Amino acid sequence: MKKYEVAVIPGDGIGKEVVPESIRLLNTVAVQCGFEISYKHYDYSCEYYKNHGKMMDDDGLKKLRDSDGIFLGAVGYPGVPDHVSLWGLLVPIRRTFQQYVNLRPVKLLKGVDSPLKNPGNIDFYIVRENNEGEYSSIGGRLNEGTEHELVVQESIFTKRGVDRVMKYAYELANKRNKKLTSATKSNGIIHTMPYWDERFKAIGKLYPDVVQSQFHIDILTAHFVTRPHEFDVVVASNLFGDILSDLGPAVIGGMGIAPGANLNPEKEFPSMFEPVHGSAPDIAGKNVANPIASVWTAAMMLTHFGEYEAAALVENAIEQLTAEGNVLTPDLGGNASTVEVTDALIQNIITK
Ligand code: ATP
Ligand code: MG
Repeated sequence: MKKYEVAVIPGDGIGKEVVPESIRLLNTVAVQCGFEISYKHYDYSCEYYKNHGKMMDDDGLKKLRDSDGIFLGAVGYPGVPDHVSLWGLLVPIRRTFQQYVNLRPVKLLKGVDSPLKNPGNIDFYIVRENNEGEYSSIGGRLNEGTEHELVVQESIFTKRGVDRVMKYAYELANKRNKKLTSATKSNGIIHTMPYWDERFKAIGKLYPDVVQSQFHIDILTAHFVTRPHEFDVVVASNLFGDILSDLGPAVIGGMGIAPGANLNPEKEFPSMFEPVHGSAPDIAGKNVANPIASVWTAAMMLTHFGEYEAAALVENAIEQLTAEGNVLTPDLGGNASTVEVTDALIQNIITK
């Protein structure tokens, strides 16, 4: 029997509520499909930071490295600045393990309300570059405290870094509906973005069947709202991808159902699976968080493991649940709890 070892980081807030529920569901599909998952739990979180002055222990990365996948809930805590959890935990994991693709599906599920009047059939993927680009620690301040203060923030785009994410995006588009859209801003950002466009075209030569389009990020965000049904795969730099992947969930009905994965496609290192949403302290501890984002994220992990049948079972269970609309958490207009929604999803899996 195939066996996978998953490192689990529930994190903070609703992460600690949705992760155990996702594991409960994962165990059901594992039995159903004939494989095994074992879990190692790590309490790395903002709470850990409050007690230890760091987000994870010094050999944390070494411990995570041996796993087949890292399953994360959410990190964030009122009073702990976002950059602490980001640069103390998420960024080191993403970069050390070369998780250079941040993959976020944007799919409007039947029965879920979009804030758009005529959303159409929204079903596309955002491929965000996850390791370099605008998010760099290179830069600094000059002449501090004077009238001549000057602040510099560098962006880093490497050929290896851009090409590999482009290849991933083209491959994905090639497997889907053969349309790839690139986010750029080469009219304003005149060094890195023209390079991004150049590599988009160059790698595109290897995929003659994929139709290319390219938009400046300003108009692209508008298109996400006015014609989201036209996209198939969208590739974007770290910053632009970050912005687009909060807008995506907004048009498909919210954070409660938006999954995500940080992938090392070569499987040289473990990938990390984390929903788009944060720790949501406003609803934490009330058993009302929507587990769908985390459960769907778990399905992405199964896909990455090559357990396609199991992943499809989970995705179908989610689609059936929202289409029927009987058991939903408050964010989707229902009054069911986190546990009740998971129970209903598990029921859908068992009865398939
Ligand atoms: P963090 O600081 O960790 O990012 P946050 O408060 O910014 O946490 P977000 O995930 O960005 O949380 O979500 C914004 C809001 O969306 C939350 O405050 C919450 O009300 C809602 N939300 C997020 N995730 C869920 C979920 N799984 N179920 C229901 N509502 C959610
Ligand atoms: Mg947030």
